[in-house]
Order: sequence, then structure tokens, then C-alpha cells
Amino acid sequence: MSVNGRTGDREKLLLHCCCGPCAATVVQHFASAGKQVTGWYYNPNIYPPEEMRVRQQALQQASIALGMPLLPPGPEPDPADFLLAVAAEGGVRCRACYRLRLGAAARKAKEEGFPVFSTTLSISPYQDLEAIGEIGEAAAAEHGVRFEFVDLREKHRESLARARSLGLYCQNYCGCLFSGLERSQRRAQRAVRKSKV
Ligand code: SF4
Ligand code: SF4
Repeated sequence: MSVNGRTGDREKLLLHCCCGPCAATVVQHFASAGKQVTGWYYNPNIYPPEEMRVRQQALQQASIALGMPLLPPGPEPDPADFLLAVAAEGGVRCRACYRLRLGAAARKAKEEGFPVFSTTLSISPYQDLEAIGEIGEAAAAEHGVRFEFVDLREKHRESLARARSLGLYCQNYCGCLFSGLERSQRRAQRAVRKSKV
């Protein structure tokens, strides 16, 4: 039974998850800090929709392996939500992306009775952790919950290795349309360089 956001003596934490690979280590971190972790998948930034589903499946697989319950994800988001958020932020896409996802996670935490929330993004060396901390705190203040900011980047390799050993899907681009295009450009440039040697 949950009383005042606690189950037994453990505080309930809602973990925003963007897919499976980072979840293992982040869940372990919060569990050893005495939290009771529940995951939630909300990532309207991910494009195309098939990729969104594959990452969601990776999280479901990870949640079974880790014994972490998941909140139902809700209806599949419209990719336009992300593009509109980026446009509203003047094209500064990663800040818009964090604001969209962490804002939704803070709202969800409040609605579902979690006093605190965090995100698996906090282990990725490819993310702007300073912006994540600032935006997470602002979202928490807006919705009357706490944001647990952690920097777990030094554990990223370990987390990837664990994900591979669990057979989880590991994606090769951050997630949005723009990052997918950048990946394609890098591949094309590599192919051109190879063809010249
Ligand atoms: S690999 Fe990237 S998308 Fe997947 S959980 Fe880690 S930060 Fe999120
Ligand atoms: S690069 Fe990653 S963090 Fe930045 S907008 Fe795209 S999906 Fe979001």
C-alpha cells in the first residue's frame, strides 16, 4: 500500500525511459538509493513511428529482466507534437525535446502520486546534462514534484554492455528525424571516403 508517495520505507520514483539500454544501470542506481522505481515510456521525439515502437519493446524487455513495473504508455504520440515543440523553441531542438518529455514526466508523476521523477537520459554522454538538470527542475517546480538529477555518464559503457548481454535493441541514432538525417549524412560521407581509398 502506498502512503504519501512511499511504499514501505521506499520513496516512489517515476523514471522517464527513452528505451532499454540505459534503463538497467539507472534503475539499479535508484534502487540502491532506496527508491521504488516505476518506468514510463513517453518519447514523441522518436521518428519514424516504427522506431518508437522498437524502443518501447526494448524497454518492455528490460523491465521484465529488471523486475521494474511500467506505467501504461498511453496513446502513441503524434510526431507533429515534437516538431511543433522544436518550432516553438526557435529550432533549438534538444532543449525543446527535453522540455516536452520531462514536462510530461513531471505531470505524470503528479497525476500518479509519485513525489519524485527522473530520466534515463542522465546516463547518456550524448545528451546535454546541464540542460536536462535545468529543464527537469523547472518542470518539477511547475507540477509540484521533485526532479532527482543524477549524472551517471561514467556508467554508460557498463550499461551498454549489460543491455547487449540481455539481448536488448541498441539504437544507433539519438531518435528524432534530425538525428536520423545526421546519421545518414555521416554514413554517406564514410562511404565516399571509403570509395576514394
Ligand atoms: S540509449 Fe539513448 S534513447 Fe536509449 S535509453 Fe539511453 S539515452 Fe535513452
Ligand atoms: S538529437 Fe536527441 S535529444 Fe536532441 S532533439 Fe533529437 S532526439 Fe531529442
